[in-house]
Amino acid sequence: MKLNGRRESTNVEDRRGMSRGAKAGMGGIAGIIFAVIITLMGGGNLGDALGTVVQQQLQGQLQEQPAGNQREFTEEEQAAAEFSKQILASLEEVWTAQFQQNGMRYEYPTMVLFTGSTSTACGTGSSAMGPFYCSGDQKLYLDLSFFASMSSQLGISISDKSSFAYAYVIAHEVGHHIEYLRGTLAKAHAKMNQLDKASANKISVKLELLADYYAGCWAHYEQQKYGSLTEQDLADAIDAAQKIGDDYLQKRSQGYASPDSFTHGTSQQRMYWLKKGFESGDWNTTTFDEGELD
Ligand SMILES: [Zn+2]
Repeated sequence: MKLNGRRESTNVEDRRGMSRGAKAGMGGIAGIIFAVIITLMGGGNLGDALGTVVQQQLQGQLQEQPAGNQREFTEEEQAAAEFSKQILASLEEVWTAQFQQNGMRYEYPTMVLFTGSTSTACGTGSSAMGPFYCSGDQKLYLDLSFFASMSSQLGISISDKSSFAYAYVIAHEVGHHIEYLRGTLAKAHAKMNQLDKASANKISVKLELLADYYAGCWAHYEQQKYGSLTEQDLADAIDAAQKIGDDYLQKRSQGYASPDSFTHGTSQQRMYWLKKGFESGDWNTTTFDEGELD
């Protein structure tokens, strides 16, 4: 993506290089929210889209940051942070305008950059989960080393250091924030709470595909205004969407896919919804309730 000179969002908490103890600890309220969310989700898995496989593959490789350790960031790390902040700024711009056109107000989410593990209103977040969104504090959590593991661990082809495939990851998490603002998350979680695991997983898949769709819609308006996406960018993102499909990941890790356990959708579905969002930009009429995302 060509983002030269674009604005960087300031709605960012940079906790990189901080030990978990260096950030304010989790109070009782956070603990309660955590318990509630775990119950609603029907399991202890806080991880998101890309979490599962990375968790399997990185286990044992990740180490907690030494307490109080502050270090210099490499040029590459700084570039990744800058890129992420520029993408977040674009997401703010696009979603503010889109919400306004529909008589709604877009509330900015905060992006937390961290290394190792960090406190969230949804419990302790760790790099092993992959990027995730916590509705308890309306923050998206991102360990930038995930970008490197996308190509090295998941085999996603990333053509350059500011690929749209990375932006897609951030836009997907902001997609969950849109779901939160529209009340979709709360509705879905209430429903999931009353269902057996297999049926609850189907709703989870819908939430993920909707987040992919919103990511595509954002890209539609980003492209319309700035023309920042290249053909290669689109190919990279489609490749990423394909390689984080549940069927692809399960086949990769266990040799077969079991659809009842899918929580994010198949490769085919993820590619389809990302593309559809990008082509139409029509975020407001495609809703979770229409049953269109089956
Ligand atoms: Zn997700």
